[in-house]
Amino acid sequence: MLDLLYYSKTDLFRPPGYLTDDSWFNARLLNRNTRIVPVWKNQNLVLDHNNPTAVIFTGNHAHALLEISNEIVFLGLDSINISDDNNSAYFAIDLSKCPLPSLAAFMGQAKFIELRQVGMLMDKREGSLLALARGLMFWHYNNRFCSNCGSSSVSVQGGRLRLCTNHDCGREHYPRMDPAVIMLVTRPGPDGGACLMGRGHNFRKGMYSSLAGFVDQGESLEQAVAREVYEETGISVDNIKYRASQPWPFPSSLMLGFRARATTTKINIDTNELEDARWFPKSVVKNAESSGLQLPRRDSIAFWLINDWLNDN
Ligand SMILES: [Zn+2]
Repeated sequence: MLDLLYYSKTDLFRPPGYLTDDSWFNARLLNRNTRIVPVWKNQNLVLDHNNPTAVIFTGNHAHALLEISNEIVFLGLDSINISDDNNSAYFAIDLSKCPLPSLAAFMGQAKFIELRQVGMLMDKREGSLLALARGLMFWHYNNRFCSNCGSSSVSVQGGRLRLCTNHDCGREHYPRMDPAVIMLVTRPGPDGGACLMGRGHNFRKGMYSSLAGFVDQGESLEQAVAREVYEETGISVDNIKYRASQPWPFPSSLMLGFRARATTTKINIDTNELEDARWFPKSVVKNAESSGLQLPRRDSIAFWLINDWLNDN
């Protein structure tokens, strides 16, 4: 079931020995097989919203775009055979400094859009590629200055890290993600028991989802699960079990999915965090549509965790 998770399927290969070789990168950039994935202000270039496909450039268009991009990041090779001349190197480029009209000739009918609007309709590999490009560009843009000394930083090793330009500092900065736990709390009972789901203030009508929150400093993942559940709903849990994870580059989270067992049942919600939280019997979740219950989006690990529970024996 793990292969159903979105945004975590890039099968690109980054050859470790070549990452410090600028001449190798430059040769790959000019190679006829090179694939360029454009990003503009955290948006990806997609053709046809109803049947979305990623727009990836090669050849003359790729070379022209490389000239005007303000950041180039190596994503990987599509083959582990480095010496194979027919493999393709994928690079993400940031075009945020280009006014959109100046890109019209490249875009054709395609549009830069927020990946979350179309990701779940896309081929999973393409969606993952766009998510990776978007996530890395977001990190690079937000780390243009050294967090240690405030000097500017530069991208090195094909964007694998950024280096502070102040020689007295010289700190290396690697792409970071923010760990967040997401958990389906369940309780035993007749007909498969029930699960605890909450409703945020900005959720669409009728939608409930598993609880989630960022991991605090000095906290284990299991402690974060127990704390978040208690803070948001007043429910205590034990038997906290890791289930699956998902990169969620909107903008920079790593979602760590858990199942937990409730040891109390009385809900007392934190109204700052949630509008409502309820116990949902398995039969209701199974027949969500006819029950008027909206489940979270299909490309989310929340949806995966719910299905994981529904598929329990
Ligand atoms: Zn510095």
